[in-house]
Amino acid sequence: MTQEEIFKNLISHTKEYGFIFPSSEIYDGLSAVYDYGQMGSELKNNIKKYWWDSMVKLNENIVGIDSCIFMHPKIWKASGHVDAFNDPLIDNKDSKKRYRADVLIEDYIAKIEAKIDKEVAKGRKRFGDSFDEAQFRATNPNVLREEKKAEEVRQRMAKALNDNDLAGLRQIIIDCEIVDPISGTRNWTDVRQFNLMFSTQLGNISGEDGTLYLRPETAQGIFVNFLNVQKSGRMKIPFGIAQIGKAFRNEIVARQFIFRMREFEQMEMQFFVRPGQELEWFRHWKQKRLSWHLAIGMGEENYRFHDHEKLAHYANAATDIEFNFPFGFKELEGIHSRTDFDLGRHQEFSGRKIQYFDPETNASYVPYVIETSIGVDRTVLAVLSAAYRQEKLDNGEERVVMRFHPALSPVKVAVLPLVKKEELTNLAQSIMNDLKYDFNCQYEEKDTIGRRYRRQDAIGTPFCVTIDFDSLTDGRVTLRDRDTMAQERVPVSELHSIVEKKVSMKSLLEKI
Ligand code: ATP
Repeated sequence: MTQEEIFKNLISHTKEYGFIFPSSEIYDGLSAVYDYGQMGSELKNNIKKYWWDSMVKLNENIVGIDSCIFMHPKIWKASGHVDAFNDPLIDNKDSKKRYRADVLIEDYIAKIEAKIDKEVAKGRKRFGDSFDEAQFRATNPNVLREEKKAEEVRQRMAKALNDNDLAGLRQIIIDCEIVDPISGTRNWTDVRQFNLMFSTQLGNISGEDGTLYLRPETAQGIFVNFLNVQKSGRMKIPFGIAQIGKAFRNEIVARQFIFRMREFEQMEMQFFVRPGQELEWFRHWKQKRLSWHLAIGMGEENYRFHDHEKLAHYANAATDIEFNFPFGFKELEGIHSRTDFDLGRHQEFSGRKIQYFDPETNASYVPYVIETSIGVDRTVLAVLSAAYRQEKLDNGEERVVMRFHPALSPVKVAVLPLVKKEELTNLAQSIMNDLKYDFNCQYEEKDTIGRRYRRQDAIGTPFCVTIDFDSLTDGRVTLRDRDTMAQERVPVSELHSIVEKKVSMKSLLEKI
């Protein structure tokens, strides 16, 4: 099965089992907007809790806030979003489809990279055990030619984006002979800038422009509360402010399921430091954030850093953590060293002094900022796609199993009386009552036990507890493990602690 087919199956699986639904489906949906169902919202909440606890609980010098989506419109002037939060768009005149010019070029580069990978795979096959990949990549003429081609395009695109050279971007598309994937033609319009912010009106305020923006990032809510938090929390630099919340972007090309949505959620943390120390903290957060991802257990090989070639004028370092999604490596999280740009601009635009008096150096300054910014929904997609397995079992049957880290699983325990007989259901209910205050549990008595196991596998429940007639006399139940499918008889009295050990958030947090 191709990656594309697996991805399609995953999307229908998430709908069938209540993870993710297309928004407004009975009205034929709304493009790039999705709703989380009963399983999806549990998974999403667990991911948010994992992030929040890793920031706010594990670091005494990080606190969390919850600022509003609506903010004073001047904030978006100050942050640069009104003037510069643009994407370069291009239309194909035949298909009438709209694309991001930079994404078309990136896809072209990805194709070259795929060609190189194929070449390497061929080499590996030819040379067998004696294959030295590094040497092959450094010497094979086909690989070298393709790499040079990709690098040239990369450089040209970085320069065109940096110089805001829209004609230059278009020229790359023409020179690379990039065709519209739908019409197959090269009949392109000019490249234009398109602002990604949604706007709305704030009632009727006479004499004032009532245009409000739906925030395109949560970070500005942190910056404008810097003084409030610092003073009320008596925070000493270095310290951080974390926030989870909705953000909105009028994305030109919204595809790849929940990877790019028009309404999504971000988890952002701004870490305020003394000027001059920012690069040290940048390195610190790069490693910390990678450890956070690795603890989930989705494979080290599925992550990579992508350092930015094109730095925003105010940034002095930036990197993305990319994840190997079903459609290739793409940005999951951004880590940016933003200097004193944001606080400095708010100081300028608000006319308020936004500074910190550093008792150690006896000086006041506008702090520098390291930002870590990750999309909740992209993390959900990463977790879903890494967990999804279609497995053939020894007995010839097949199962679909979501191998989530148990701490992230939507349901932790399924309580299953073997048959619907009062003695068994009574005991099952009492086990349910014992567990439900601490763990999200499901109680199911319909269908054969095999079917019920399959349903729990499909939503990634780490434990199934089966109550049978022996349980009534020996006080033991069968505990089935999702991953190994091993079944073990355990005393009812030990259930709570066995489950706790495996599903607690602590098991994740300890690894960071
Ligand atoms: P991209 O280049 O993919 O558009 P970006 O560089 O604009 O992303 P940032 O502004 O750095 O993204 O936002 C931080 C994080 O927010 C991203 O790493 C991503 O996880 C998430 N994010 C951004 N845009 C979207 C979106 N439209 N849908 C879902 N998540 C998003």
